[in-house]
Amino acid sequence: MILLDGKETAKTIRGELKAEVEALAPKHGRAPGLAVILVGEDPASQVYVRNKERACAEAGIISVPHKLPADTSQQELEKLISDLNTDETVDGILLQLPLPKGLDSQRCLELIDPEKDVDGFHPVNVGKLTLGLPGFRSCTPAGVMNLLERYDIDPSGKKCVIIGRSNIVGKPQALMMLAKNATPVITHSRTKDLKAECRDADILVAALGRPGFVTEDMVKEGAIVIDVGINRTEDGLKGDCDFDAVKDKVHAITPVPGGVGPMTIAQLLVNTVQAFKQHVNA
Ligand code: NAP
Repeated sequence: MILLDGKETAKTIRGELKAEVEALAPKHGRAPGLAVILVGEDPASQVYVRNKERACAEAGIISVPHKLPADTSQQELEKLISDLNTDETVDGILLQLPLPKGLDSQRCLELIDPEKDVDGFHPVNVGKLTLGLPGFRSCTPAGVMNLLERYDIDPSGKKCVIIGRSNIVGKPQALMMLAKNATPVITHSRTKDLKAECRDADILVAALGRPGFVTEDMVKEGAIVIDVGINRTEDGLKGDCDFDAVKDKVHAITPVPGGVGPMTIAQLLVNTVQAFKQHVNA
C-alpha cells in the first residue's frame, strides 16, 4: 500500500514556491501578497487561517490579515473586498468561510476580482474550469490532482467515483478528473446503491463529512482512495474513510490528518504565486 503523504508533498511544494518567489520578488520589487479576510471567531476558521498564514510565510508570500468582528455589516465587508480588488500589492484575496449569520457569502465571493480569486470560487473561474480554460481552480480538488501527479498516478481511463457534490469539492473534482481523461461519477445522499458505485471505483474520492463512512466492503481491491473528509470527533480528527479497515485492500490511500488538508493549503499558495505572476506579467 502506498501512503499518499500530503504533508511531505505540501512541504516540497512550499520549498519550490519559496525558490520561485525568491527569484521573482527582487525583479518586481515585492513578494506575492495574499489578503486573508476572517470575519468573527469561528474556532475552526481561526485554525485554518493560522495554518494558511504560516504556510504563506514559509513560501515567502506576504499574507495580510483582515480580522473583522462578527457584527461586521455586509456593506463594510463589501467595501473591504472592493478596496482589496484595487490594491496593487494584493494578488490574491481569501475570504474564509463560513461567514457569520446575516452575511451573504455568495455575494461577497462574486465581488472578488476573478483575477484575485485564489480560492477558485468565483463563477468566472468555475466557468473556466467547466470549459477547460486556464483559471484559478478550487484548492481542495486541485490539491488532490497535484498529489496524484506527484505520485505518478494517472487518472486517464480510470473510473473515479466521488462521494459528495459540493461546489468546493465534489463538483470541481469531477471536472478536474474529466480533464485528466478519467470517467467521473458524482454520488450523493440520494444515490441508489452507493456501495455498488464505490466498489466499482478505480479512484474513490470521499468528500461527504461522515467519519469512517467508507468501509472495507465499499472499496475495490487495488483502488486508490482519496479521503477529503475532516471530521472533529472525540478521538481527534477523522477522515471519511475507515483507514485501518481499508488500508490493506487498496493500492494507495491518503491519511487524515496529513493527506488532502496540507495539499489544499499548498494549492492556495500555488494559486497565489500564479496570481502574482499574472499581475506583474512575470
Ligand atoms: P458539504 O458541502 O456538506 O457536502 C457534503 C456532500 O456529501 C453533499 O453533496 C451530500 O449529499 C453528500 N453526503 C452527505 N451524506 C451522505 C451520505 N450518507 N451518502 C452519500 N452522500 C452523502 O461538504 P464539503 O464542504 O464538500 O466537505 C466534505 C468533507 O470534506 C467535510 O468533512 C469537510 O470538512 C471536508 N473538507 C476538507 C477539505 C480539506 O482541505 N481536506 C476541504 C474542504 C472540505 P447531498 O448533496 O445529497 O446532501
